[in-house]
Amino acid sequence: MTGDPLVERMQAFGTTIFTEMSALAVRTGSINLGQGFPDTDGPPEMLAAAAEALAGGANQYPPLPGIPALRARITEHEQRFWGLTRDPDTEVVVTAGATEAIAAAILGLCEPGDEVVTFEPYYDSYAASITLAGARRRTVTLRPESGRYGFDESELRAAFGPRTRLVLLNSPHNPTGKVFTRAELTLIAELCQEFDAYAVTDEVYEHLVFTDAAEPHTPLATLPGMHDRTLRISSAGKTFSCTGWKVGWATGPAALVSTVQRVKQFLTFVNAGPLQPAVAVALGLPDTYFTEFRAGLQARRDRLVTGLTEAGFAVQPSEGTYFVTADIRPLSAKDGADFCRELPERCGVVAVPTQVFYDRKAEGRHLIRFAFCKREEVIDEAARRLAKS
Ligand code: PMP
Ligand code: GLN
Repeated sequence: MTGDPLVERMQAFGTTIFTEMSALAVRTGSINLGQGFPDTDGPPEMLAAAAEALAGGANQYPPLPGIPALRARITEHEQRFWGLTRDPDTEVVVTAGATEAIAAAILGLCEPGDEVVTFEPYYDSYAASITLAGARRRTVTLRPESGRYGFDESELRAAFGPRTRLVLLNSPHNPTGKVFTRAELTLIAELCQEFDAYAVTDEVYEHLVFTDAAEPHTPLATLPGMHDRTLRISSAGKTFSCTGWKVGWATGPAALVSTVQRVKQFLTFVNAGPLQPAVAVALGLPDTYFTEFRAGLQARRDRLVTGLTEAGFAVQPSEGTYFVTADIRPLSAKDGADFCRELPERCGVVAVPTQVFYDRKAEGRHLIRFAFCKREEVIDEAARRLAKS
């Protein structure tokens, strides 16, 4: 047999930009501000609980929906921070990271030809999962305007139609750092109800909204009419600095959770047996953990933004997440992909070109993304290198 055996609908998807850029960082010995992963470990209580579970025999399949202690802590955490009430027995499912929850939701909800409304730039797995399901994406562009990323209301309205099955919303938003406001969410909620669409919300950065954001984080599920049509997805990776553990979850009305569960049982069945009790411990940490975690990231954001500004980038404000985007045009550069491929050789720093997260590539051609979930000395060294380049 000859040729590429990959199915036609996946041909447009090569190696992810994160894989490409992290490999480039290793190859060139560069500081990796590309892929979003912290360079320090999460809370010691969580790590100790994982070691204890591993040595204590928690090494076989956990129950399909996740161990009861973790499901209980997930619902308590949602109640504590967002005032959402969910039944831990029927309205929660533990998944292999947020990524599996997103894929299982789309595969379980979309018939071929159905449409998924999402915002660009989007997290790369969205496009792949939508394509795997044979569904179509209808993308609305987020543009940096008057100090923050926004979108055109008429563009959003036009993205909805009779085939709209769901809206896939990421807030706080990767890569822009945008936190959707209540007014923006209200519009999305109204359109979901008008077109009888579901909402799938990716809230993996729920605890990373900085004190100078326009508004605090609001889960879409808390808006009127949305509790019973929203599947809310999150993950331990970001909040507890354990991106390699891939423990995520989805909560929502039993019918939506059951949809995810019925698909995921044939993707991974279950995952991370000894890590599930540890994430349960982490979710029960006092409020001070979450506040200090956010304050630490905010300080590092400020450090990186100062460094990037001094190096000549036009930095877009980031209200949350691990990320900040920068415009390269003041440095007489035009194309972020070229810029990021040359940057490691030029100065030993890796960033990610944002254009790969757009359908309308031209909208993001001049933008690149830096991750600031790194130790202060690493950020400072990256800033020094960028200033010299
Ligand atoms: N959604 C967004 C917006 C992300 O940035 C990421 C990256 N971690 C994920 C989902 C995937 O999360 P996980 O690693 O838990 O699968
Ligand atoms: N979420 C991480 C980021 O945006 C990357 C995850 C991945 O490599 N797939 O950097």
